[in-house]
Amino acid sequence: MFGTSGIRGLANVDVTVELAARVGAAIVDEAGRTIVVGRDTRATGEMLESALCAGIVSRGGNALRIGVAPTPTTALASSKRACRGVMITASHNPPEYNGIKIFANGMEIDRDEEKKISERAGGKTKMNAADWRSIGKIDYYEGAIREHVDAVLGLVDVGAIERKKPKVVIDCGNGAGCVVTPYALREAGCKVIGVNCEQSGEFARGLEPNDENLSETRRMVRAVGADLGIAHDGDADRAIIIDEKGELLGLDAQLALACEEILSRKKGTIVSTLEASLAVRESVERKGGKLVTTAVGSLNVAREMKKNRAIFGGEPCGEYIFPEEMFVPDGVLGALKFVEIFCKKGKLSALRERIKTYPMKRVKIRCARKEEAMEKIKKEMKNEFRGRVNDVDGVRVDFEDGWILVRASGTEPIIRITSENKNEKKLEGIVKRAEMMVKKFA
Ligand code: MG
Repeated sequence: MFGTSGIRGLANVDVTVELAARVGAAIVDEAGRTIVVGRDTRATGEMLESALCAGIVSRGGNALRIGVAPTPTTALASSKRACRGVMITASHNPPEYNGIKIFANGMEIDRDEEKKISERAGGKTKMNAADWRSIGKIDYYEGAIREHVDAVLGLVDVGAIERKKPKVVIDCGNGAGCVVTPYALREAGCKVIGVNCEQSGEFARGLEPNDENLSETRRMVRAVGADLGIAHDGDADRAIIIDEKGELLGLDAQLALACEEILSRKKGTIVSTLEASLAVRESVERKGGKLVTTAVGSLNVAREMKKNRAIFGGEPCGEYIFPEEMFVPDGVLGALKFVEIFCKKGKLSALRERIKTYPMKRVKIRCARKEEAMEKIKKEMKNEFRGRVNDVDGVRVDFEDGWILVRASGTEPIIRITSENKNEKKLEGIVKRAEMMVKKFA
C-alpha cells in the first residue's frame, strides 16, 4: 500500500474513497484520536479528504480539516498539535493521480507504523465502527496557514528583505503553495508577481518544476525584470529557484548554495543523499562543514539529521529540511531563504557562477523485476569498479574524481544510473560500462 512517498496512485482507481476511509479509520486505531487533514488542489482532493475524515470520525476520532494547504503546512500543524497529520497529495504527479501521506509530530511516520496502518486498512486486522453515540467530530482548523506563515517569517531575516524590497515571481503551478507562499513573500516585504497561483484544480503546467515546465515562468522573470523567481511542485515541499536572467540555478548548484549560506552562519553537519553532487560536497567542505549522505528520500534524510544533530538537510530535487522548524521539507521556507540570500548577497546569477559543477549523466533502464536484478548488479558492480563502495541504497562507488550510483526507482519499474566525473571522457566510459552491465540483468 505504501511506497517511498506514502500511498500514491490513480485517483478512483488505486486511491479510492473506500481506501481513504479505511486509512482514516486505521490511523485512529493505531495512532490516536485527533488528526489534522490537508490536501493539495487536485480535483479529487476534496472527495478523498471527505472520505478520510468520515473514516476518522467513524472510529471515534476527531478530524481537523485544514482544506487546501501545502504538505509542510499540514506537517507543521501535526507538530504544533502533537498529533498525526494526513496530507492528500500526489506531489508533482499529473492531475489524475492522488495520494495519502501521514505525519507524526512534524515528521513522516516510520515504516513500522505504515505497516500497521496498511494491515488494518487492508482488512488484515478487524475494524469495528464506533457506537453511534461515540463517533467523533469534524472541525475546521483555519489557523494552520497563519501558523505556517508566522513560522517561516520567524526563521528568515525579514528586516533585510524589507529594506531591499525585491521583485519576486512566484509560480505555484496552481498547486497548494498558492495559499501560503505569495502571502508569506508579501508579508516579508517582497513585490510579488504570481503565476499559476489559482487553486482551480487544473494545472497550467507540468507539476514537476523542471526547465521545460518552467519555460514561461523563466520568460516572465526576464520580462518583468524580477530579482528572482521561485517555482513549487504541487504540494510546495519543493522550491526551485530562477535567477534574474531567467535561468534555473540548477538542482545541484542550488543545494550547494543553500549549504554555503547556512554554513556561513553556523558550522555543523549537513545531510544529503547518495545523489548529491561533488559541488555539494565541495561547498560544504570549503565552508568547514561535514557532509553525511544517506539513502534517497526525505524520511531517510530527516532520520540521519536527528542522529547527527545536523543543522540542515537537503535533497537535490529541491526538498530542504530546516531542523529549527521541523523534520519535513518545506518549500515555502526554502523559497524565503533564497529571497534572503539575494537581499544579503546580491544577484543569484553571480552567486551561481561561483559554484563549480561537473559533468553529470543520468540513464534510465526499464526493468520489471528490479529488486532481483539489483541483487546481482550489486555484486557485479563491486567487481567492475574499483573505489569506495556504499550500498545503503542501490550501490554507489566513489572514485578519485567522481562517482557512480545504480539504484532501483522507488516508484517506477526502472533502474537508474547516475554518474558524475571531473573528466567528461571518463564519465562516458564509466556510464557505458555500467549500462552494459545493468542491461545484462534487467
Ligand atoms: Mg512534493
